[in-house]
Amino acid sequence: MEKNYRAEITGVFGDPVDGNPTGVMEEAAYEACGLNYRYLTLKVTREDFDDAMKSIRALHMKGMNLTMPHKITVLPYLDEISEAAGIIGAVNTIVVRDGKLFGENTDGKGFVQALKNKGVSLQDKKIVILGAGGAAKAIAVECALEGAAQVTIINRTKEKAEELAQVLTEHTKARAIGLKWEPEQKIPADTDILINATSIGLMPDADAKPDIDYDSISSEMVVSDVVFNPAETLFLKEAAARGAKTVNGLGMLACQGALNFTLWTGVEAPLEIMEETLRKEFEVGYGETD
Ligand code: NDP
Repeated sequence: MEKNYRAEITGVFGDPVDGNPTGVMEEAAYEACGLNYRYLTLKVTREDFDDAMKSIRALHMKGMNLTMPHKITVLPYLDEISEAAGIIGAVNTIVVRDGKLFGENTDGKGFVQALKNKGVSLQDKKIVILGAGGAAKAIAVECALEGAAQVTIINRTKEKAEELAQVLTEHTKARAIGLKWEPEQKIPADTDILINATSIGLMPDADAKPDIDYDSISSEMVVSDVVFNPAETLFLKEAAARGAKTVNGLGMLACQGALNFTLWTGVEAPLEIMEETLRKEFEVGYGETD
């Protein structure tokens, strides 16, 4: 049989992108599965985005991740997008299928998968989300599509919380509420799942935590954080101290990477290897993970 030396290309377009850790876990997964795939972390400015998009077909790439500032700009370039990506209005993953570009948003799906891996279902649940940015929107839409009964968005800028609640009301069956974030915000007692979807607590500000009344967290709640470095944030530690079950952002990031891996390769992802690779990467890069 003739040898095939040609690598399949995947990667990410972004600017800034130097600090994006995704390539480390994807390359570890390709190697573990013996796949001749590469994941390239590529700086692409707004001005060069059109040329970069042309390179996907020209170089016969398998797919790409998109990060700031391209997640919305990419929409007109795509032949098809998933239901969730359409509602969110942003795409973080392109998959090339028969020369056509399919757009998906795996941010929210990674979150849902991380919960499922811990035995937590979204069906009929009451969700409270702190924040109303890109991550919050992806998570809110995916939770609603997964059957959550109610999604409450609490945000510093009230208008953004209300706008996101409006999107959910228009496109999903979930009851949606947008609220202004008050000082020492109380979490409603009937909350099933509480999520920090802000960047508060992210390295190097690991001493920071969202301004909520931590005593309003109960042991009945599941508490989750999108912040992945450190994996065990102060927010999660406070929740765990109140007996809540916690799900960290590192798991979400690994699940998102695993979903991308499978979309591009058609192979089941080695999730544990991906999560462990990230954990080690953060230990080396920042000196502590918890
Ligand atoms: P955005 O900039 O789109 O949104 C940030 C949100 O956080 C806004 O709602 C903002 O409120 C709020 N916020 C920021 N600082 C404060 C503060 N001091 N007090 C109150 N609210 C604050 O960011 P993203 O949604 O894209 O990203 C958020 C985090 O999610 C990042 O840390 C990112 O790394 C992480 N993430 C993790 C993923 C994972 O797989 N684990 C995947 C994707 C993202 P306002 O609207 O008032 O400005």
